[in-house]
Amino acid sequence: MKEDLELLWELQKIDLDLKNIEEERKRYPKEIKRLDEKQILEQERIRKEKEKLESLEKDRRLKERNLMAEQDKIKRSEGRMTEVKTNKEYQALLSEIETFKEAAGRIEEEILLMMEEIDELKKQLAKREKEIATTLEKVEEEKRKIKEKMEQDDTVWKEKTLRKEILSKQVEANLFKLYLTLSEKRQGIGMVSVRNQTCQGCFVNVPPQMFIEVQKNNSLIRCPHCNRILYWDGNGEKK
Ligand SMILES: [Zn+2]
Repeated sequence: MKEDLELLWELQKIDLDLKNIEEERKRYPKEIKRLDEKQILEQERIRKEKEKLESLEKDRRLKERNLMAEQDKIKRSEGRMTEVKTNKEYQALLSEIETFKEAAGRIEEEILLMMEEIDELKKQLAKREKEIATTLEKVEEEKRKIKEKMEQDDTVWKEKTLRKEILSKQVEANLFKLYLTLSEKRQGIGMVSVRNQTCQGCFVNVPPQMFIEVQKNNSLIRCPHCNRILYWDGNGEKK
């Protein structure tokens, strides 16, 4: 019996490991998806900031062309100065030049403001790009770790499944059947250890005499409360 209980205990531990891997296999793809989305979001953010900068630069170029047009007008009007014949014409031309100069001045001011805005945006963008690069690197690292763990899981899964098959045949048939039935009813846990006189499946105390018997691992003893098969694994210390 002792040997059967030992084999079954090993099997229970394997079943828990396999269950754990199963849960990870459900969870990891979701985590990868979440990280992918985070990467896309960060890239989208930087793309929008770049677009804003490009659009400002475009506006600035347009304004510079407008300024040149105004300056041309001023030059042309000034060129006509020699052709004026009357004082009235002279005054009119002066006032025309004045209007063009005012327009040019306004555009120049606008260009200056835009250049300040562009400089500020460029600084922010450079900072953001650094931050995003760091974030993306971290996300990439997280993804790499998850993928690595998934590969490890596959290897462990294969090994443990093989061992499980062997154990399933080695454990005495009736005991194994009982274990399967209990596992099915009790969230995959059919066999539990007892620590500090407490069943580790339902955390209810077992009677003192039963606790003494369990520690011998010589007979099939089941928790009076949750019915699981009890096992003594030396209070959790490695044997
Ligand atoms: Zn119990």
